[in-house]
Amino acid sequence: MRIAMIGTGYVGLVSGACFSEFGVHVTCVDKDATKIERLKGGEIPIYEPGLDELVARNVAAGRLSFTLDLKEAMAGADAVFIAVGTPTRRGDGHADLSYVYAAAEEIAANLDHYTVVVNKSTVPVGTGREVKAIISRTNPNAAFDVASNPEFLREGSAIGDFMRPDRVVIGTSSERAAEVMRRLYRPLYLIETPIVLTSLETAELTKYAANTFLAAKITFINEIADLCEKVGANVHDVARGIGLDGRIGKKFLHPGPGYGGSCFPKDTLALVRTAQQVGSPLRIIETVVDINDKRKKQMAERIVAACGGSVAGKTIGVLGVTFKPNTDDMRDAPSLDIIPALQAAGATVRAYDPAGMHEAEKLLPGVEWARDAYGALEGADGVAILTEWNEFRALDLKRVKALLKKPVMVDLRNVYNPEDMAAAGFAYSSIGRPTEP
Ligand code: NAD
Repeated sequence: MRIAMIGTGYVGLVSGACFSEFGVHVTCVDKDATKIERLKGGEIPIYEPGLDELVARNVAAGRLSFTLDLKEAMAGADAVFIAVGTPTRRGDGHADLSYVYAAAEEIAANLDHYTVVVNKSTVPVGTGREVKAIISRTNPNAAFDVASNPEFLREGSAIGDFMRPDRVVIGTSSERAAEVMRRLYRPLYLIETPIVLTSLETAELTKYAANTFLAAKITFINEIADLCEKVGANVHDVARGIGLDGRIGKKFLHPGPGYGGSCFPKDTLALVRTAQQVGSPLRIIETVVDINDKRKKQMAERIVAACGGSVAGKTIGVLGVTFKPNTDDMRDAPSLDIIPALQAAGATVRAYDPAGMHEAEKLLPGVEWARDAYGALEGADGVAILTEWNEFRALDLKRVKALLKKPVMVDLRNVYNPEDMAAAGFAYSSIGRPTEP
């Protein structure tokens, strides 16, 4: 089989490479000439564990290639996937569909045989119908069907998630398109992956329902963590105590500085807007969005409080700036709220991140970037852990203490144990756990 993948971002590049690993001939297209140039030169423009080998192997096998030319990519393709960005539209919180609709027009201009147009981007209900209308309008003779195939992979474990998903959701009203999709995903049938075959609208909504549910689960445990602090309970024990109940489940019950990243913030907001627009408001999700926005800002206040109530003229060492470990993605990372708030309160921020500094430099002016974790701590008045990269989990605490002016640590990811930190002589604060053992 042969497919074209429009967009070589976190989703398009990973999905394209994984399909090629399944034996499909994949041509990835992007408008960004630098990205395509780098990919052709064997360089991976994003940080995603394992992606370099996967891409190299399939390029060498002749199943994966990159181009700026959509016509070339669509030649003989069974399906063309749209995996372009759908960021928040400026001003109103709706999803910005301009990239998806532009891709639909470009596809229409190049359709010369029956092709399934598959939308992998996260898009509001009704977008698939609109894509169909755009293509029919632009190229009335085109032979095609539209399908929705939302992607559920997580950055940082994207390849494993794509290769061994909990389920695959396919939305289409065409049996012919469904058959093409089944053939594409055939390797997953062997590992008995459930395939949810449904309508376009249902598939589109399923993706938003999944992401908003997970955002609500995180927000729930964050509020329980705050309550734990007030009443002297331990949020990890509460999370375990409820998570072992199969109806609740263990995952996504880890408290932190509020969800961030390229999906949850924009998808919660977009679904809230869709629901308001059709007169069926999602009040739970409206509240989740509000709580999470405020939470990120409150995190800076926690750090200020831990530093004795003021950070004016002080230096704060920050470990981790990406929204989670194992990615270089900075989109809507909590650090983008926390660091500027510390700077506004008069602090100098010295930070280190294993993969995110290149992106972060552009977004966080005035930050001093260190060469490693210890470099960020030298002479600092306190340290804040914002992302739980593995290399921050086993710091040499003696060395950390010797480097800091004062042994203050604010651990927004609960990487360390309060008991161990107290024993090591730190004034340690974390989320939802008693400071006293
Ligand atoms: P991204 O911004 O990393 O990549 C999008 C790419 O599309 C860019 O390289 C851009 O240059 C390219 N592009 C835009 N218009 C184009 C066009 N007309 N022709 C060719 N290339 C074009 O985005 P992403 O993170 O991969 O997300 C893509 C979609 O997948 C979004 O809707 C997102 O919500 C969804 N999604 C993302 C994740 C994730 O973890 N990042 C997970 C699941 C779903």
